[in-house]
Amino acid sequence: MSADPVLTLADLERWSFTGTALAVLGHPIKHSISPAMHNAALTVMAAREPRFATWKYFRFEVHPDDLAAALPRFHAQGFHGLNLTVPHKILAFSRVAAVDPAARPVGAVNTLRTRPDGWQGFNTDGYGLATAVREELGLDLAGTPIVLLGAGGAARGAAVECLQRGCASLHIGNRTAANLDALLADLRPLAGAIPLHGFDPTVPAGLPARALVINATSAGLRADDPPPVDLARIPHPVGVYDMIYNPPVTPLLAVARAQGLPHAHGLSMLIHQGARALEIWSDTPVPVDAMRQAARAALGVRP
Ligand code: NDP
Repeated sequence: MSADPVLTLADLERWSFTGTALAVLGHPIKHSISPAMHNAALTVMAAREPRFATWKYFRFEVHPDDLAAALPRFHAQGFHGLNLTVPHKILAFSRVAAVDPAARPVGAVNTLRTRPDGWQGFNTDGYGLATAVREELGLDLAGTPIVLLGAGGAARGAAVECLQRGCASLHIGNRTAANLDALLADLRPLAGAIPLHGFDPTVPAGLPARALVINATSAGLRADDPPPVDLARIPHPVGVYDMIYNPPVTPLLAVARAQGLPHAHGLSMLIHQGARALEIWSDTPVPVDAMRQAARAALGVRP
Protein backbone atom coordinates (compact mmCIF):
# COMPACT_ATOMS: atom_id res chain seq x y z
CA MET A 1 0.00 0.00 0.00
CA SER A 2 1.13 3.56 -0.69
CA ALA A 3 3.58 5.15 1.76
CA ASP A 4 2.52 8.70 0.85
CA PRO A 5 1.32 10.57 3.95
CA VAL A 6 -2.39 11.25 4.40
CA LEU A 7 -2.64 15.04 4.73
CA THR A 8 -5.50 17.02 6.30
CA LEU A 9 -6.96 20.50 5.96
CA ALA A 10 -4.72 21.56 8.86
CA ASP A 11 -1.73 20.73 6.62
CA LEU A 12 -3.30 22.85 3.87
CA GLU A 13 -3.42 25.88 6.20
CA ARG A 14 0.35 25.73 6.74
CA TRP A 15 1.16 24.78 3.14
CA SER A 16 4.77 25.63 2.21
CA PHE A 17 5.40 23.45 -0.87
CA THR A 18 6.75 25.76 -3.59
CA GLY A 19 6.44 23.43 -6.61
CA THR A 20 3.36 22.64 -8.71
CA ALA A 21 0.98 20.77 -6.43
CA LEU A 22 -1.67 18.24 -7.43
CA ALA A 23 -3.80 16.24 -5.00
CA VAL A 24 -6.62 13.78 -4.57
CA LEU A 25 -9.34 14.58 -2.01
CA GLY A 26 -11.54 11.85 -0.55
CA HIS A 27 -13.18 10.38 2.53
CA PRO A 28 -11.72 7.91 3.28
CA ILE A 29 -8.46 8.43 1.36
CA LYS A 30 -5.99 6.15 3.08
CA HIS A 31 -6.48 3.38 0.46
CA SER A 32 -5.75 5.70 -2.49
CA ILE A 33 -2.77 4.71 -4.63
CA SER A 34 -3.13 7.76 -6.89
CA PRO A 35 -0.03 9.55 -5.46
CA ALA A 36 2.21 6.54 -6.28
CA MET A 37 0.75 6.35 -9.78
CA HIS A 38 0.97 10.07 -10.63
CA ASN A 39 4.35 10.67 -9.02
CA ALA A 40 5.84 7.77 -11.02
CA ALA A 41 4.52 9.37 -14.20
CA LEU A 42 5.87 12.78 -13.17
CA THR A 43 9.35 11.31 -12.61
CA VAL A 44 9.35 9.98 -16.19
CA MET A 45 7.95 13.26 -17.52
CA ALA A 46 10.61 15.29 -15.63
CA ALA A 47 13.39 13.29 -17.32
CA ARG A 48 11.94 14.37 -20.66
CA GLU A 49 10.85 17.93 -19.75
CA PRO A 50 12.51 19.71 -16.78
CA ARG A 51 9.38 21.77 -15.96
CA PHE A 52 7.85 18.65 -14.41
CA ALA A 53 10.68 18.24 -11.88
CA THR A 54 8.81 20.51 -9.45
CA TRP A 55 5.42 18.79 -9.84
CA LYS A 56 4.16 16.60 -7.00
CA TYR A 57 0.89 14.80 -6.25
CA PHE A 58 -0.46 14.57 -2.65
CA ARG A 59 -3.50 13.02 -0.97
CA PHE A 60 -5.85 14.73 1.50
CA GLU A 61 -8.51 13.38 3.81
CA VAL A 62 -11.46 15.78 3.36
CA HIS A 63 -14.85 15.16 4.98
CA PRO A 64 -17.83 15.90 2.68
CA ASP A 65 -19.05 18.57 5.13
CA ASP A 66 -15.76 20.42 4.56
CA LEU A 67 -15.53 20.12 0.76
CA ALA A 68 -17.32 23.36 -0.16
CA ALA A 69 -14.99 25.42 2.02
CA ALA A 70 -11.91 23.38 1.10
CA LEU A 71 -12.10 23.81 -2.68
CA PRO A 72 -11.44 27.60 -2.63
CA ARG A 73 -8.68 27.04 -0.04
CA PHE A 74 -6.84 24.63 -2.35
CA HIS A 75 -7.25 27.17 -5.16
CA ALA A 76 -5.94 30.02 -2.99
CA GLN A 77 -2.93 27.93 -1.96
CA GLY A 78 -2.02 27.64 -5.64
CA PHE A 79 -2.79 23.97 -6.32
CA HIS A 80 -2.69 23.33 -10.07
CA GLY A 81 -5.08 20.39 -10.16
CA LEU A 82 -7.24 18.13 -7.99
CA ASN A 83 -8.79 14.70 -8.29
CA LEU A 84 -11.99 13.98 -6.39
CA THR A 85 -12.92 10.53 -5.21
CA VAL A 86 -15.65 9.01 -3.02
CA PRO A 87 -17.93 10.78 -2.08
CA HIS A 88 -17.05 14.19 -3.57
CA LYS A 89 -17.69 13.96 -7.32
CA ILE A 90 -21.34 15.01 -7.33
CA LEU A 91 -20.89 17.56 -4.53
CA ALA A 92 -18.06 19.30 -6.39
CA PHE A 93 -20.02 19.59 -9.65
CA SER A 94 -22.00 22.60 -8.39
CA ARG A 95 -18.97 24.15 -6.64
CA VAL A 96 -16.71 24.84 -9.62
CA ALA A 97 -16.41 28.01 -11.69
CA ALA A 98 -16.85 26.14 -14.97
CA VAL A 99 -17.58 22.61 -16.17
CA ASP A 100 -16.05 21.07 -19.28
CA PRO A 101 -18.92 20.63 -21.79
CA ALA A 102 -18.29 16.85 -21.91
CA ALA A 103 -18.77 16.59 -18.12
CA ARG A 104 -22.02 18.61 -18.03
CA PRO A 105 -24.40 15.73 -18.76
CA VAL A 106 -22.59 13.59 -16.15
CA GLY A 107 -23.41 15.91 -13.23
CA ALA A 108 -20.20 14.84 -11.48
CA VAL A 109 -16.54 15.86 -11.79
CA ASN A 110 -13.43 13.89 -10.81
CA THR A 111 -10.72 16.23 -12.13
CA LEU A 112 -10.32 19.97 -11.47
CA ARG A 113 -7.86 22.32 -13.20
CA THR A 114 -7.07 25.75 -11.85
CA ARG A 115 -7.98 28.92 -13.71
CA PRO A 116 -7.92 32.53 -12.46
CA ASP A 117 -11.55 32.61 -11.24
CA GLY A 118 -11.61 29.16 -9.60
CA TRP A 119 -11.72 25.54 -10.73
CA GLN A 120 -12.71 24.05 -14.06
CA GLY A 121 -14.28 20.59 -13.66
CA PHE A 122 -13.78 17.57 -15.92
CA ASN A 123 -14.86 13.94 -15.73
CA THR A 124 -12.39 11.29 -16.89
CA ASP A 125 -14.15 8.24 -15.38
CA GLY A 126 -16.11 7.41 -18.54
CA TYR A 127 -12.98 7.52 -20.70
CA GLY A 128 -11.17 5.38 -18.12
CA LEU A 129 -13.97 2.80 -18.09
CA ALA A 130 -14.30 2.56 -21.88
CA THR A 131 -10.52 2.19 -22.32
CA ALA A 132 -10.27 -0.40 -19.52
CA VAL A 133 -13.16 -2.52 -20.81
CA ARG A 134 -11.58 -2.62 -24.26
CA GLU A 135 -8.11 -3.39 -22.89
CA GLU A 136 -9.14 -6.01 -20.29
CA LEU A 137 -12.19 -7.68 -21.81
CA GLY A 138 -11.81 -6.85 -25.52
CA LEU A 139 -15.29 -5.28 -25.45
CA ASP A 140 -16.58 -2.02 -26.92
CA LEU A 141 -19.35 -0.15 -25.13
CA ALA A 142 -20.73 0.67 -28.60
CA GLY A 143 -23.31 -1.90 -29.62
CA THR A 144 -23.15 -3.83 -26.32
CA PRO A 145 -26.12 -4.21 -23.92
CA ILE A 146 -25.03 -2.82 -20.53
CA VAL A 147 -26.24 -3.79 -17.05
CA LEU A 148 -24.91 -1.09 -14.72
CA LEU A 149 -25.07 -1.29 -10.92
CA GLY A 150 -25.02 1.97 -8.94
CA ALA A 151 -26.30 5.53 -9.25
CA GLY A 152 -23.48 7.51 -7.61
CA GLY A 153 -20.75 9.64 -9.19
CA ALA A 154 -18.94 6.76 -10.89
CA ALA A 155 -22.17 5.26 -12.24
CA ARG A 156 -23.11 8.65 -13.71
CA GLY A 157 -19.83 8.83 -15.63
CA ALA A 158 -20.25 5.25 -16.81
CA ALA A 159 -23.88 5.68 -17.89
CA VAL A 160 -23.21 8.83 -19.92
CA GLU A 161 -20.20 7.21 -21.60
CA CYS A 162 -22.25 4.10 -22.50
CA LEU A 163 -25.03 6.22 -24.03
CA GLN A 164 -22.67 8.60 -25.84
CA ARG A 165 -20.75 5.66 -27.34
CA GLY A 166 -23.99 4.05 -28.54
CA CYS A 167 -24.50 1.01 -26.30
CA ALA A 168 -27.27 -1.35 -27.45
CA SER A 169 -29.29 -0.80 -24.25
CA LEU A 170 -28.71 0.41 -20.69
CA HIS A 171 -30.30 -1.21 -17.61
CA ILE A 172 -29.38 0.42 -14.27
CA GLY A 173 -29.96 -1.11 -10.84
CA ASN A 174 -29.44 0.68 -7.53
CA ARG A 175 -30.14 0.03 -3.85
CA THR A 176 -31.94 3.36 -3.27
CA ALA A 177 -34.79 3.83 -5.74
CA ALA A 178 -34.87 7.63 -5.40
CA ASN A 179 -31.22 7.93 -6.45
CA LEU A 180 -31.86 5.61 -9.40
CA ASP A 181 -34.89 7.66 -10.49
CA ALA A 182 -32.89 10.89 -10.34
CA LEU A 183 -30.16 9.38 -12.51
CA LEU A 184 -32.65 7.97 -15.04
CA ALA A 185 -34.35 11.38 -15.30
CA ASP A 186 -30.99 13.02 -16.05
CA LEU A 187 -30.08 10.36 -18.63
CA ARG A 188 -33.36 10.30 -20.58
CA PRO A 189 -32.54 13.32 -22.77
CA LEU A 190 -29.24 11.66 -23.76
CA ALA A 191 -30.65 8.21 -24.50
CA GLY A 192 -32.46 9.01 -27.77
CA ALA A 193 -33.45 5.66 -29.30
CA ILE A 194 -31.30 3.59 -26.89
CA PRO A 195 -33.53 1.56 -24.51
CA LEU A 196 -32.94 2.88 -20.96
CA HIS A 197 -34.46 1.10 -17.93
CA GLY A 198 -34.12 0.96 -14.16
CA PHE A 199 -34.40 -2.23 -12.11
CA ASP A 200 -34.36 -3.35 -8.50
CA PRO A 201 -31.05 -5.21 -8.00
CA THR A 202 -32.61 -7.43 -5.32
CA VAL A 203 -35.10 -8.84 -7.86
CA PRO A 204 -33.39 -8.45 -11.25
CA ALA A 205 -35.82 -9.30 -14.04
CA GLY A 206 -36.08 -8.61 -17.75
CA LEU A 207 -32.35 -8.06 -18.19
CA PRO A 208 -30.88 -8.56 -21.66
CA ALA A 209 -28.77 -11.55 -22.73
CA ARG A 210 -25.08 -11.11 -23.61
CA ALA A 211 -24.72 -7.93 -21.54
CA LEU A 212 -21.60 -6.41 -20.07
CA VAL A 213 -22.22 -6.16 -16.30
CA ILE A 214 -20.51 -3.18 -14.64
CA ASN A 215 -20.36 -2.68 -10.87
CA ALA A 216 -20.21 1.02 -10.00
CA THR A 217 -21.41 0.56 -6.41
CA SER A 218 -19.24 0.48 -3.30
CA ALA A 219 -20.59 -3.01 -2.53
CA GLY A 220 -17.49 -5.23 -2.53
CA LEU A 221 -15.08 -2.83 -0.86
CA ARG A 222 -15.51 -5.02 2.24
CA ALA A 223 -14.97 -8.76 1.98
CA ASP A 224 -18.29 -9.50 3.72
CA ASP A 225 -20.39 -7.31 1.36
CA PRO A 226 -22.87 -9.37 -0.65
CA PRO A 227 -22.52 -9.03 -4.47
CA PRO A 228 -24.58 -6.03 -5.70
CA VAL A 229 -26.62 -8.39 -7.93
CA ASP A 230 -27.17 -12.13 -8.33
CA LEU A 231 -25.22 -12.83 -11.55
CA ALA A 232 -27.12 -16.07 -12.06
CA ARG A 233 -30.24 -13.94 -12.79
CA ILE A 234 -28.55 -12.28 -15.80
CA PRO A 235 -28.60 -14.42 -18.97
CA HIS A 236 -25.14 -15.22 -20.41
CA PRO A 237 -23.18 -12.03 -19.65
CA VAL A 238 -20.29 -11.35 -22.06
CA GLY A 239 -18.19 -9.92 -19.24
CA VAL A 240 -18.15 -8.48 -15.73
CA TYR A 241 -16.22 -5.30 -14.91
CA ASP A 242 -15.98 -4.26 -11.24
CA MET A 243 -14.77 -0.69 -10.70
CA ILE A 244 -13.43 -1.76 -7.30
CA TYR A 245 -9.75 -2.77 -7.44
CA ASN A 246 -9.00 -3.28 -3.75
CA PRO A 247 -9.75 -6.05 -2.87
CA PRO A 248 -8.86 -7.35 -6.36
CA VAL A 249 -11.41 -10.17 -6.11
CA THR A 250 -14.75 -8.77 -4.95
CA PRO A 251 -17.69 -11.07 -4.14
CA LEU A 252 -19.11 -10.22 -7.61
CA LEU A 253 -15.86 -11.13 -9.36
CA ALA A 254 -15.60 -14.34 -7.34
CA VAL A 255 -18.99 -15.40 -8.75
CA ALA A 256 -17.96 -14.33 -12.28
CA ARG A 257 -14.81 -16.40 -11.95
CA ALA A 258 -16.74 -19.42 -10.65
CA GLN A 259 -19.11 -19.13 -13.64
CA GLY A 260 -16.18 -18.92 -16.07
CA LEU A 261 -17.15 -15.42 -17.24
CA PRO A 262 -14.56 -12.94 -18.57
CA HIS A 263 -14.01 -10.46 -15.74
CA ALA A 264 -11.68 -7.67 -14.57
CA HIS A 265 -11.26 -5.42 -11.54
CA GLY A 266 -11.05 -1.62 -11.60
CA LEU A 267 -7.30 -1.03 -11.59
CA SER A 268 -7.21 -0.51 -15.36
CA MET A 269 -9.96 2.12 -15.07
CA LEU A 270 -8.08 3.87 -12.28
CA ILE A 271 -4.97 4.01 -14.45
CA HIS A 272 -6.72 5.34 -17.56
CA GLN A 273 -8.88 7.92 -15.76
CA GLY A 274 -5.72 9.08 -13.97
CA ALA A 275 -3.71 9.26 -17.20
CA ARG A 276 -6.41 11.41 -18.80
CA ALA A 277 -6.43 13.70 -15.74
CA LEU A 278 -2.66 14.14 -15.90
CA GLU A 279 -2.96 14.98 -19.61
CA ILE A 280 -5.53 17.66 -18.76
CA TRP A 281 -3.21 19.21 -16.14
CA SER A 282 0.01 18.93 -18.15
CA ASP A 283 -1.21 19.44 -21.75
CA THR A 284 1.18 16.70 -22.81
CA PRO A 285 1.05 12.92 -23.46
CA VAL A 286 1.68 10.94 -20.26
CA PRO A 287 3.55 7.65 -19.65
CA VAL A 288 0.67 5.23 -19.04
CA ASP A 289 3.03 2.25 -18.61
CA ALA A 290 4.84 3.97 -15.71
CA MET A 291 1.47 4.65 -14.08
CA ARG A 292 0.43 1.01 -14.55
CA GLN A 293 3.66 -0.33 -13.06
CA ALA A 294 3.48 2.02 -10.07
CA ALA A 295 -0.19 1.26 -9.42
CA ARG A 296 0.45 -2.49 -9.53
CA ALA A 297 3.48 -2.16 -7.25
CA ALA A 298 1.51 -0.02 -4.77
CA LEU A 299 -1.16 -2.72 -4.63
CA GLY A 300 1.37 -5.52 -4.41
CA VAL A 301 0.22 -7.02 -7.74
CA ARG A 302 2.94 -9.06 -9.44
CA PRO A 303 3.75 -7.95 -13.03
P1 NDP B 1 -20.75 7.23 -4.52
O1 NDP B 1 -20.64 7.34 -3.04
O2 NDP B 1 -21.06 8.44 -5.34
O3 NDP B 1 -21.89 6.11 -4.90
C1 NDP B 1 -21.93 4.87 -4.25
C2 NDP B 1 -22.90 3.92 -4.95
O4 NDP B 1 -22.79 2.63 -4.34
C3 NDP B 1 -24.36 4.32 -4.82
O5 NDP B 1 -25.05 3.90 -5.97
C4 NDP B 1 -24.81 3.53 -3.59
O6 NDP B 1 -26.18 3.23 -3.59
C5 NDP B 1 -24.06 2.25 -3.82
N1 NDP B 1 -23.81 1.46 -2.60
C6 NDP B 1 -23.04 1.83 -1.55
N2 NDP B 1 -22.99 0.83 -0.64
C7 NDP B 1 -23.75 -0.17 -1.12
C8 NDP B 1 -24.11 -1.46 -0.65
N3 NDP B 1 -23.64 -1.93 0.52
N4 NDP B 1 -24.90 -2.25 -1.42
C9 NDP B 1 -25.36 -1.81 -2.61
N5 NDP B 1 -25.08 -0.58 -3.12
C10 NDP B 1 -24.27 0.23 -2.38
O7 NDP B 1 -19.38 6.56 -4.98
P2 NDP B 1 -18.72 6.55 -6.43
O8 NDP B 1 -19.80 6.43 -7.42
O9 NDP B 1 -17.76 7.65 -6.56
O10 NDP B 1 -17.87 5.18 -6.37
C11 NDP B 1 -18.51 3.92 -6.40
C12 NDP B 1 -17.48 2.81 -6.46
O11 NDP B 1 -16.72 2.88 -7.66
C13 NDP B 1 -16.46 2.87 -5.31
O12 NDP B 1 -16.22 1.57 -4.86
C14 NDP B 1 -15.23 3.45 -5.96
O13 NDP B 1 -14.05 3.00 -5.32
C15 NDP B 1 -15.33 2.87 -7.37
N6 NDP B 1 -14.66 3.71 -8.37
C16 NDP B 1 -13.57 3.20 -9.03
C17 NDP B 1 -12.94 3.95 -9.99
C18 NDP B 1 -11.78 3.38 -10.72
O14 NDP B 1 -11.08 4.14 -11.38
N7 NDP B 1 -11.54 2.10 -10.66
C19 NDP B 1 -13.36 5.33 -10.33
C20 NDP B 1 -14.52 5.74 -9.57
C21 NDP B 1 -15.11 4.97 -8.62
P3 NDP B 1 -27.28 4.19 -2.86
O15 NDP B 1 -27.74 5.15 -3.90
O16 NDP B 1 -28.29 3.21 -2.44
O17 NDP B 1 -26.58 4.85 -1.68
